[in-house]
Amino acid sequence: MDRPVVHIIGAGLAGLSAAVRLAESSASIVLHEATRQAGGRCRSFFDETINATIDNGNHLLLSGNRSALAYLDAIGARDELTGPGRCEIAFADMATNERWTIRVNEGPLPWWLLVEGRRTPGVRLLDYLGALRLLWAPKGAKLSQVISCSDRLYERLWRPFFLAALNTEPKDGSAALAAATLRETLAKGGRACHPLVAANGLSRAFVDPALRLLQKRGAQARFERRLRGVEFSGDRATSLEFEHDAIALGERDLVVVATPAHIAAGLVPDLVTPQQTSAIVNGHFNIAPPAGTPPILGVVNGMVEWIFAYPDRISTTISGADRFIDAPREKLAADLWRDIAALTNLPDTLPSWRIIKEKRATFLATPEEAARRPPTATRWRNLLLAGDYVNTGLPATIEGAIRSGEAAAALALERMEQQ
Ligand SMILES: Cc1cc2nc3c(=O)[nH]c(=O)nc-3n(C[C@H](O)[C@H](O)[C@H](O)COP(=O)(O)OP(=O)(O)OC[C@H]3O[C@@H](n4cnc5c(N)ncnc54)[C@H](O)[C@@H]3O)c2cc1C
Repeated sequence: MDRPVVHIIGAGLAGLSAAVRLAESSASIVLHEATRQAGGRCRSFFDETINATIDNGNHLLLSGNRSALAYLDAIGARDELTGPGRCEIAFADMATNERWTIRVNEGPLPWWLLVEGRRTPGVRLLDYLGALRLLWAPKGAKLSQVISCSDRLYERLWRPFFLAALNTEPKDGSAALAAATLRETLAKGGRACHPLVAANGLSRAFVDPALRLLQKRGAQARFERRLRGVEFSGDRATSLEFEHDAIALGERDLVVVATPAHIAAGLVPDLVTPQQTSAIVNGHFNIAPPAGTPPILGVVNGMVEWIFAYPDRISTTISGADRFIDAPREKLAADLWRDIAALTNLPDTLPSWRIIKEKRATFLATPEEAARRPPTATRWRNLLLAGDYVNTGLPATIEGAIRSGEAAAALALERMEQQ
């Protein structure tokens, strides 16, 4: 009997993680990617302006991102993530010029909160207890309905933390998604909160080793193959329509649609997905950071929110950045640099730069949009969904995307066994 074929549409991290998992099975795997490059919203490219390979956006992981780390183990790339090896995150407040470093102890008993020099300055110990309410937050609640979003703890810890995780103004964000992030990271103690970055680039960590592994296992990756439509009959998808050809699906073949939400909604009839998106703006500056610059700096009351110091350049991130999408890049670069120069004591002269605006970086993580996330299974028995917008219970992150791919792979294996 011929081997079943699993067609995976989209080679972002959701599609790649599904492919890596399924490549261990007896099925033939074919990955169809619309563009010339795998990685989707998590990719590197060579930029001539700053003469370096840079990422579309700085991606921060935490050591509690267990699926992301397991995926890196599977593709042999865990070493590509680097970090301080402990939960230590530096912050600066541009309104008061204060600096502090949060130092969370490794174990689950949070004694770091008792030590003044380890916690957020100007915050009482009691204030942290309010966060416990989040762990029992009702599903449809906004963060502001569960914890205080006007005090110092919010401004200096919860807002930066949840803005990075949800890519949505946290007070309007889903309390359930914030709670899921908290449960998998800070609530487990510092051991689950070591910051990690792909210092040599996202593609070298998450994408290229996966493609090599897939090739070794006999899977095919086809590029510049945009899926235009799917034909259905009864409870099955029967054909995949690409620009120049079509593939008729065999009785035992499966399809995993691992595109962004708005593309999936155009391919799969009646599919309900989140519709509102939220932008991220990244600035890359071609200048080595001065000695002593923390590798990751959270900024409060600035335009810039996070500063990443790489050996040869400085990068910045602004999340929930729809307000900057139409701003001229020259102005964004100049304004960001003003913050960076003030925080690092570098000269005011703007080095060469690159601004990357990702308009649809993630879905808007409000309770209303979260309620529109579909499950992995669809009403077609041979068509499954993967992608950071699928209902993983996590926000749209690397961890969520990888977990959605794993869930699709697990269900595909189950369906193949039933046949
Ligand atoms: C600037 C930025 C910063 C971020 N920062 C972080 C962070 O710090 N930490 C974190 O964890 N997450 C972060 N994220 C989120 C993370 O990158 C995404 O959640 C994740 O990469 C989404 O993966 P995906 O596979 O679901 O979707 P995508 O990456 O969008 O992959 C979908 C793929 O499908 C392809 N495709 C689309 N249409 C078709 C078609 N018709 N046929 C074939 N292929 C198609 C696309 O080209 C793409 O390659 C950030 C995202 C951005 C944009």
